[in-house]
Amino acid sequence: MRKKIVAGNWKMNLNDSEASELIQNVNAEKINDVELIIFPPFLYLDRAVNNSIQTKVGAQNCYPENSGAFTGEISPEQLQSVGVEFCLVGHSERRSILGESNAFLKSKVNALLSNQLQVVFCCGEVKEERESGVQNQIVKNQLEESLFHLSEEDFQNVIVAYEPVWAIGTGLTASSDQAEEMHAFIRSLIAQKYSESTAENTSILYGGSCNPTNAQELFSKENVDGGLIGGAALKADSFLAIAKSF
Ligand code: PEP
Repeated sequence: MRKKIVAGNWKMNLNDSEASELIQNVNAEKINDVELIIFPPFLYLDRAVNNSIQTKVGAQNCYPENSGAFTGEISPEQLQSVGVEFCLVGHSERRSILGESNAFLKSKVNALLSNQLQVVFCCGEVKEERESGVQNQIVKNQLEESLFHLSEEDFQNVIVAYEPVWAIGTGLTASSDQAEEMHAFIRSLIAQKYSESTAENTSILYGGSCNPTNAQELFSKENVDGGLIGGAALKADSFLAIAKSF
């Protein structure tokens, strides 16, 4: 049985005391049968690891080398050494603002897996691509160029997050049918590349303006195994309400 997961991407938000408060509050109420993962800014990772009772901790980014002259960057080895277990790869903001290519994302995936971190791999189309009906081809390319070189064994450490870019931070949500259609397509690609059992065991999360009001409908779909949450993860009550929506 694949895991149900609700993950919170805090992005570049919250000051020191706000971060401490949120770490404390997302751990204050016990949530059963759902894995909660928080992705705070680097500055607060160590604190999140040391104060988490139920939440697992992930980083929002990494640089695909273990150490060296890479000013300002953080390596998978460093993340692993402070107890971080997950890392986002391929978030649309890094693809569009930081210009990260599928090939560069592939090198991050490799570096993370060789340091025993799990990858939360984000994929998704922009508005124009959805409007011209090429969303499946776009997502297929993203998976093929950054993930599908992995062995079946390594792929067990990957969680996929489908995030239609037009829905991120916009208040527009994919309908539950649109999400289900894409998630089923992604699962079929994993089955073709690896096996039915690997496809069945891979958690595929939806991201894009998911909130306590729409989460239940999205999570009711067979292939939607949870959410990657941005804005609504910055308040413990909305994050936990989403986690209770299964
Ligand atoms: C995200 O950035 O991963 C995201 C899903 O953001 P939001 O929930 O704010 O749309």
